[in-house]
Amino acid sequence: ILVASCKEQNNNSEDNINNSNQTIENKVTQLLSKMTLEEKIGQMNQYNGFWNVTGPKPSDGDAAKKYEHLKKGYVGSMLNVRGVKEVRAVQKIAVEETRLGIPLIIGFDVIHGYKTLSPIPLAEAASWDLAAIKKSARVAAKESAAAGINWTFAPMVDISRDARWGRVMEGAGEDPFLGSKIAIARVQGFQGDDLSSHQTIAACAKHWAGYGFAEAGRDYNTVDVGTSTLNNIIFPPFKAAMDAGVRTFMNSFNELNGIPATGNVYLQRDILKGKWGFDGFVVSDWGSINEMIAHGYAKDKKHAAELSAIAGSDMDMESYAYVDELANLVREGKVKESLIDDAVTRILKVKFELGLFDDPYKYCNEDYEKEVTGSKEIHDAVLDVAKKSIVLLKNANQVLPLKKEGQHIALIGVLAADKTSSLGSWRIAADDNTAVSVLEGLQKYTGNKITYAKGADVVIGKTEFAIELQINTEDKSGFSEAIATAKKSDVVVMVLGEHGFQSGEARSRTDLNLPGVQQELLEAIYKVNKNIVLVLNNGRPLTITWADEHVPAIVEAWQLGTQSGNAIAEVLYGDYNPSGKLPMSFPRNVGQVPIYYNYKNTGRPIIPAPNEVFWSHYIDESNDPLYPFGHGLSYTTFYYSNLVVNKISNEAVEVSVEIKNTGTLLGKEVAQLYIQDVFASVTRPVKELKGFEMIELKPNEQKTIKFKLTNKELGFFNNEGEFVLEPGEFKVYVGGSSKTVLESKFNLE
Ligand code: BGC
Repeated sequence: ILVASCKEQNNNSEDNINNSNQTIENKVTQLLSKMTLEEKIGQMNQYNGFWNVTGPKPSDGDAAKKYEHLKKGYVGSMLNVRGVKEVRAVQKIAVEETRLGIPLIIGFDVIHGYKTLSPIPLAEAASWDLAAIKKSARVAAKESAAAGINWTFAPMVDISRDARWGRVMEGAGEDPFLGSKIAIARVQGFQGDDLSSHQTIAACAKHWAGYGFAEAGRDYNTVDVGTSTLNNIIFPPFKAAMDAGVRTFMNSFNELNGIPATGNVYLQRDILKGKWGFDGFVVSDWGSINEMIAHGYAKDKKHAAELSAIAGSDMDMESYAYVDELANLVREGKVKESLIDDAVTRILKVKFELGLFDDPYKYCNEDYEKEVTGSKEIHDAVLDVAKKSIVLLKNANQVLPLKKEGQHIALIGVLAADKTSSLGSWRIAADDNTAVSVLEGLQKYTGNKITYAKGADVVIGKTEFAIELQINTEDKSGFSEAIATAKKSDVVVMVLGEHGFQSGEARSRTDLNLPGVQQELLEAIYKVNKNIVLVLNNGRPLTITWADEHVPAIVEAWQLGTQSGNAIAEVLYGDYNPSGKLPMSFPRNVGQVPIYYNYKNTGRPIIPAPNEVFWSHYIDESNDPLYPFGHGLSYTTFYYSNLVVNKISNEAVEVSVEIKNTGTLLGKEVAQLYIQDVFASVTRPVKELKGFEMIELKPNEQKTIKFKLTNKELGFFNNEGEFVLEPGEFKVYVGGSSKTVLESKFNLE
């Protein structure tokens, strides 16, 4: 043995690598100088869990190879190892059996919680409540860290305008301003102020870049977008995450303008590590290095390794490309060793920051794991954000809130009693049947009689993350019981929508209607009882145009996680007055997609002049969405007045507006501020969100709120990628949704 292990050095040596007096940079440099080329490349290699505590899992075909590599120090990270016992077992091999004893970084998709689940990220975005979102990420970090994990592959900050894409459930919706604020909240929540604490984990901004713009919403599909969209729509949440200190990025399966993201020099070297100066590391997406062969960009695995290393993908997730090919590529002079050193420096730095060298087992305490998992603090936080995520889409005739006594309620729909579906996609560590169902939630309020009838299934057959769903449900045998139940009731609460695995990765849809026979069920019930409260459980906007025209009350309850039924019951009974606002436009018809509020004007009007035929429209559908971005009602009402714009300088204005609660209940409102740069050297959208504030008002109470708009909000990226603020006319709009109610304007000279 040439060099004593880090562990030994910790105890006795002068040039102790982990000497606390040294900077992390020095420690990394010293350690790097002791590493062989193969050991360096090992740090760039990440394997999926193949471990059983007792040894390699026989079900993983490559387990033997992975195990050998782990013992040799050729593995820098593992993902999907979970639970303290398993993590300790693999960490022990890395720390005690390899030559240098470098600890592993343990990654996991903590997308919306670990065992206790928060709402899916799209739902959380609907809360517009940054403190609640941050707290949700904080408790997710705490629970997963207690299970041995120290790195999450979240937040996904991909902006998307296409509800056909199944992964919209994982993002913050269509808007870069809201998306950036949420990216910051989630990064701060996961990472905390002190990454070396045993309660925080490293975050990962993904998928860099453009993944949400897959053509036709088909997952993994080609992305072809111009500089204006890249700079103004796609990049900002990534930049915000970076500025908030996110330690890692994940690249993306898609190609961007002809170059796969994983091999994309422009994205990873020029922008991320160059222009922005990112000093953390980039992990590939699962097998995305090898996928460059199928894209037609790399000729074989070796070529793929070469292209992605040169492009700045620092860690290879499950392609085996680096571990098998990189050393030869360096020896042949095709990849410079300095590039390897740069990647390893970044990876080791994050490991030092996490405190893994001080104590590789700091995340491995079984007593603590038991104490924290499913704790009250975690359940309270996920319930809090769950009720705030609910959006009241429609409430005619004051059907809601439900009365607490004396009503007979028919509860209909298979999702109403389901204890799994509302956990949504990405629930790898959470057990089935751990969500509170709507039935259970409503039953806690004992003043009403509730009769449940399933009506119809959403999907049939096996439902797992990694299997194709069977969606051909034609069975209407449950209709008659549901109809009879509805007939006898005062109010019908129908819980309809998507199965939990109907959105998520590889779950694109061409039809955004209620799946299966649910629409028919809804119409059949409506014939016998019109007093319907439709509660939607879904991972994406749906085209519920018929429901909007007929059903008096519609509640968007997404997939709200473990506390789902409790959150829904609190809102239906009025114990929580709904305050959520849509983070994505709801189309009337799937043919309108992509539909988004911050579109651009064309040369033709979108509202026709009399007798005008050649205007920008569809002949069979309106241009408007069913529900616009930012929409969401309350059980009370708000009145906006007195919009005033004051110029502070030639680069900044202050906007003030008065808001009054004109209803009879205490309520929260998210006041939204939009701008329009009326003419510019690159055309600008008709409206762009540039500020929002949540206020709580008692009945009759009025408050004035103020927004400041500086060059940061008023400027934009031109087609050279430069941020510019151009003089001229600006419009300002304020209201409770992107369909604003007040308007003003000002000029910059
Ligand atoms: C997804 C990533 C995820 C990774 C690891 C991929 O299929 O695109 O978002 O982090 O798997 O599970």
